[in-house]
Amino acid sequence: MGKIEVICGPMFSGKSEELMRRLNRALIAKRPFQLYKPAADSRYSKDEVVSHAGKKMKCTPIQDAGIMVELVEKETKIVAIDEAQFFGPGLLPTILSLVGAGKRVMVAGLDMDSDGVPFGSMGSVMAMAESITKLRAVCEVCGEDATHTYRRKDCDTSQILVGEKDFYEARCRAHWIP
Ligand code: ADP
Ligand code: MG
Repeated sequence: MGKIEVICGPMFSGKSEELMRRLNRALIAKRPFQLYKPAADSRYSKDEVVSHAGKKMKCTPIQDAGIMVELVEKETKIVAIDEAQFFGPGLLPTILSLVGAGKRVMVAGLDMDSDGVPFGSMGSVMAMAESITKLRAVCEVCGEDATHTYRRKDCDTSQILVGEKDFYEARCRAHWIP
């Protein structure tokens, strides 16, 4: 039976690490998987998922979520998606179609943007998921658990600004401001 597993949290909370940890287990169990990320995320590599600590895994970069339905192979047991918040409204129907075909779908992404608002389709995907793992980073001001992503004041204001520590910090609720 298909199912949806969400891995969410702020930037630097270990979402990509956790996704790759689960996929490593699938490798050991010899369960075929396909790993995707939005082509817009080219921070460290074009065709790899790379964690902030440097762990990496080959993936297929795609423009639109819907392509996953075309690319999915019959023997695939797991479809994994990193940076899922960057996909548009096509994400949810695509996930539901994959789940309907019996796939285990792992979805890693930011739950909120730096304004504290649900990011893309992540809120809806979470509502329909069998399991949600909400990770926390370390607040860069006080060292407590960080649930939010803070965007430094000196940069761009569009919702999608792909960046790293140059633009963003993990912060606890007390030290975070939109
Ligand atoms: P995500 O995919 O959630 O952005 P990654 O899996 O890429 O996170 O990276 C997690 C790693 O980021 C941690 O293991 C740690 O080495 C590093 N890191 C850097 N800054 C922080 C922070 N403020 N809190 C937690 N981890 C951090
Ligand atoms: Mg990540």
